[in-house]
Amino acid sequence: MKPAAFQYFRASTTDEALDRLAQHPGSKVLAGGQSLVPLMNFRLSRPDVLIDINGVADLGRLAIEDGELRIGALVRHRQLAESGDVAGAVPVLPLAAKHIGHWAIRNRGTIGGSVAHADPASELPAALVALQGTVVLRSARGERRVAAEEFFQGFFNTDLGEGELIVEVRIPISKSRFGFNEVVRRPGDFALVGAYVERSGPGGSVTWFGLGGRPERLLVDAWPQDAAGRGTLLEELVEGLPLDVSEDYKRAMAVTVAERAYQQAEGEK
Ligand SMILES: Cc1cc2nc3c(=O)[nH]c(=O)nc-3n(C[C@H](O)[C@H](O)[C@H](O)COP(=O)(O)OP(=O)(O)OC[C@H]3O[C@@H](n4cnc5c(N)ncnc54)[C@H](O)[C@@H]3O)c2cc1C
Repeated sequence: MKPAAFQYFRASTTDEALDRLAQHPGSKVLAGGQSLVPLMNFRLSRPDVLIDINGVADLGRLAIEDGELRIGALVRHRQLAESGDVAGAVPVLPLAAKHIGHWAIRNRGTIGGSVAHADPASELPAALVALQGTVVLRSARGERRVAAEEFFQGFFNTDLGEGELIVEVRIPISKSRFGFNEVVRRPGDFALVGAYVERSGPGGSVTWFGLGGRPERLLVDAWPQDAAGRGTLLEELVEGLPLDVSEDYKRAMAVTVAERAYQQAEGEK
């Protein structure tokens, strides 16, 4: 399949990309191209104008500042999976990033693209919700910051506005311990269901993805010490999700992945 004809601009600065976005309503940003290009090839997306941001060096910045891990929109999944700085600051992030697609996808795909695309089965949007991250958006109108929990609104639906570019995501460096687990049909596939579990004092949180249109984070006051008690609690939490999880097998998998993530957070496995 071939895409419909489009105009192509390659931006070399963030301001240039923002100018182009403002000049061409309905244009699309091209980052890693791992989601957008297949959609264009199948003509499910037909932008008249593509604005390639791969030449914008500032967007590839990865830094730890003021107690936060700051990840530029163009940081590739592979960098997240392999960076020692990321592993030191937010250890669960590389664990999850290694599960994204295959080598070729991780070499090209970017965190900004994953967050903008908002596939409900994606690891990184859920990581941002679990880790209480923030999405930094810029447009010709200025900059705004949106909590990840509010940014993801439903199936492939976000708070990203017309003319806005994701420039960075920020993750607070927390003392909590996090674990991650997911179930896939084959290695490299999108998750059927995945979970991040947080251990903070006696309680924490669980964030599920792949169950509905967006990641859902639920607070846990106190984690039961025994697996049977946690199983009961996790079943209740799945029941209480504001989602229509109609498939029984998905509910069962949600409990299983959360228990495995709990054990990882505990350092038990
Ligand atoms: C075979 C295959 C398997 C995959 N498996 C997984 C998986 O297991 N888990 C997973 O999470 N993902 C998976 N992916 C998707 C992959 O992670 C993509 O890289 C990601 O979803 C999109 O990132 P990208 O940089 O390629 O974005 P692009 O494809 O370039 O863009 C995607 C969308 O985001 C917009 N966009 C991109 N950057 C910005 C920005 N900075 N600001 C505003 N809008 C922006 C684009 O306009 C477009 O609408 C898979 C993809 C393929 C092809």
